[in-house]
Formats: sequence, C-alpha cells, structure tokens
Amino acid sequence: MRLVIAQMKHETNTFSPVPTPLARFAHGTPAPLEGRAVYDAFKGTGTAIGAFIDLADKAGAEAVFPVAGNAAPSAPVDDEAFEAMAGRIVAAVARGCDAVLLDLHGAMVTRSFDDGEGELLTRIRRIAPDVPIGVALDMHTNLFPAMAQLSTVIAGYQTYPHVDMYETGLRAGRPVFSLLEKSSRPMLAFGHRPMLPHVMRQSSLDSPNKEIQARARQMEREDALCATFFVGFPHADIPYAGSSAVVVTDGDAAGARALCDELLDMAWNARRQFVYQPEPLEKSLLRAKEMRGGPVMLLDHYDNCASGGTMDTMAVLGGILDAGLEEVAAFAICDPQAVEQMTCAGIGARVTIPLGGKLAMPALGLQGKPRTVTGNVRRIVNGIYRNDGPMARGELADMGPSAVLDTGKVEIAVISRHVEPHDIASFRTLGIDPARKRYVMLKSRVHWRAGLGPMARAVVECAGEGVCTSNYSQLKFSRVRRPIYPLDPETPPSV
Ligand SMILES: [Zn+2]
Repeated sequence: MRLVIAQMKHETNTFSPVPTPLARFAHGTPAPLEGRAVYDAFKGTGTAIGAFIDLADKAGAEAVFPVAGNAAPSAPVDDEAFEAMAGRIVAAVARGCDAVLLDLHGAMVTRSFDDGEGELLTRIRRIAPDVPIGVALDMHTNLFPAMAQLSTVIAGYQTYPHVDMYETGLRAGRPVFSLLEKSSRPMLAFGHRPMLPHVMRQSSLDSPNKEIQARARQMEREDALCATFFVGFPHADIPYAGSSAVVVTDGDAAGARALCDELLDMAWNARRQFVYQPEPLEKSLLRAKEMRGGPVMLLDHYDNCASGGTMDTMAVLGGILDAGLEEVAAFAICDPQAVEQMTCAGIGARVTIPLGGKLAMPALGLQGKPRTVTGNVRRIVNGIYRNDGPMARGELADMGPSAVLDTGKVEIAVISRHVEPHDIASFRTLGIDPARKRYVMLKSRVHWRAGLGPMARAVVECAGEGVCTSNYSQLKFSRVRRPIYPLDPETPPSV
C-alpha cells in the first residue's frame, strides 16, 4: 500500500496586510519540510499529520511526504507558495498511490484562487479521479462545494481551542483505510447555513458550539463515520465564508443528509447566541484596574495573529501603560526591527524605542501607530521551542528572534514571527511566568484557553485595533454571499 501524506495549512484573512510567502509555511527552517524530514518532525506530535503517520505505520504502508507547510494566518497566499506546495503534492500523486491523506486548513485563499483547498483537490482529481482522499480540516473551514465534492472523507476539529488535531487526523484517516480494506463505503453529505458566527462566540467550551460539537461526537458514536460542524472564518471576503457541516456515513446517503441538516439547523437556531458586542476599551481597562487577585487575562482580540492580525497594534498595550497597571506580562508585539534594536543594545541595557505599529492596515483605512516605550532589555532568545500542549503538542514553534522589554510595570514580549500565545512554552522561552502576574495581556481570542486557561482568575476582553476586529461594521464585505446573518439581520435560513 502506497500513501501520499501531506500538510498545507493556511487560514486567510483577506483584510490582513501581512504577506504570505512560502517561507511563512516553515518553522525553524528556511522552507517547508519534505520527505523523511516530515516524518521525523511530526511523528509523535498532537497533529493531524502526526495521526496520519501513525495510521500508516500501523498498516505497514509505504508513505511519501511531498510537503508539510503550516503558516500563521495572514493575507492571501502568494501564488508562488501555493504552486510550490500544491505542485509537490500533485507530483507525488502522479507517481501512483492507493490513497491520499491531507492535513489542510479549509480557509486558504490564494492570490489567484478563492478556494485554495478546492484547487488542490481539483488538480489531484484530474490525475487520480478514483483514489480515496481523506482530509482533516480546521473548525474555521470556509467550505466551498469543491472541497466536499472532491474528497472521499472529511473530518474537522470538534474543539476550539483546537486540542483534538490528532483525533481529527484519526477520524479522517480511518474510514479511508477501511475503504481500502473494502469494509466500509463512505457517503458524504455537506451543506451551509447563511451565517457568520462571531469568533468571540465560537469556543466549544461555551454554548452554543459546545452543544453542537457534543451532538456531532454523539453522531460518530452512533451512526456516522465522521460528523463535523464548521463555525467558519468570518474575516474572509469570499463567497463561502461562514458556517457549514459535513457528515460521512457508511453507505447511507440519506442518513448523512439528515444528520448534516440536523447540525446545520442546531447552529441556525442558535444564530443570535453567535453574535458578539464589543465593550469600549476605556471601560474594559477601568474594570480590570478595579479587580483584585490575578492573573486577569486582558484579551487584545482585535489583533490576534492567529486570525491574521499584524500583532503589532499598540492600542491595548498603550491603554495598559496609560492606565498604570502593574505586574503585567504582555504577549506579544511582533516587531523584528524592535528586536534588532534591543539585541544591539544588549541584555541589561535601557532603551527607548518606537514599538509596534509598523504595518498599515489599508483594508480598514488605518495607519500603523508605533508607540515610544522605555524599558530594560531583560532577555534575548532565538524564539524556537516545542509546544507543551494540549494544542499541537510536541510541534516545533518559531517566534523568531525575540526579546523582553521590561518597563518596570509591564514585561513586553517582542517577537519576530507570528505565534499566538496558546502554549505556556512561549512564555517560558522568554523567562516569563504568567501565573505570577496580576495581568496577562494576550493577543488572542480563544486559543489562549488551551494552555493558559486554567491559571486565569478573570478575563477582560479589550477592544483595540486590528484586522481581526470584533466589530464587523469596520470590515467592507463585497464578495461574501448575501444575505448572510448577522450582516443582514433578516436573513432567511437557506440560500
Ligand atoms: Zn481554527
């Protein structure tokens, strides 16, 4: 048995100014891994591709690994990057295989294609019309019909924070193996509801997604091979942004259809619970200042790099400095220039530097606004570490050359590559213990709860500035299908 196993992941924020070249898909290396290096990097990790590797090993299959690339969310992917990765995957399939297992995101937009995953699958199907294809997808998939029509099996994450990447790989892979053994006949149904659930309301730890995901898991225990509800990724001005579902059964097309519609109806009926109203920043910081005990998590949710944020807007950190909050850790400002200045000054030096605000955000009509900050350089590191988990456990993370700027009241992590603070190791690498702080500012919305949730005594959501703004009215949608809820409050259920 010969398998092609590959990873090509990107969540595209079409409002983001952050570029997406091929190098962004690599971690700790100049370009994405290929061949045996993929096996060595992902064997034993809590990722979907790690699960594919385990399934292949268990089956005694020969596996080839044309590419493993995973970029932090940003603007549409450069054509050169997409062609390089898709080209390697298609070439591997062309050499002949019994099945293809893909660890994709599901919300990849490229400069030339609204549906990066659909384009990849189209090219594979041109040369391998009948080969089984199992696909693991992120819960933030924006499902274009081609993705569902061209895959044999689809399984998406059922948790947000995404702590079930490995299990999702098993769910997507196992039905492919049973198909090869002729012990199952996967039948797939998919569908949409015209809604854009707000990211701040999407966590599977909270209602209504908690109940929807629980129902999907129950379906898998009872009648389905895979059952997935995708919340979708709203910061993408493309026709199929928003929620969808995919259910795969063993030979029961009508059953798959009914279960898929049930998940979609659950989400549609809860659509008002998926709406979020931000609070003005001044009010949030005032509330935070009055709180006793800690750590209090201050979420800079308009500038989450794992939703395409520049991770360099200074509105929330500036507000924290102005409010005089003490015993604060801030993760992070992504500013390679500032890291370089701090590195040149050296550990222990006192520096005054323009921090953050290096990138303009033309889609929002905003200029970058650096803020002059004075502090001591506490630490300088290369920024490479391994995730402790529970999210993407064991995977190599790379925040690039990084440093800590200590103002006396706030320890600011300054990094060079986008990494969302979902893992305690990102702090430990910088010598910061967030559990001992009164406040922890995080450029994160939901994923921080994976690694830092247990230590939080309180959470204050801080509306700052950025291209993953929680205020949809700041985003100019022109290509998403309309009507869609809540942009159009009177949207009917099926479009
Ligand atoms: Zn996601």
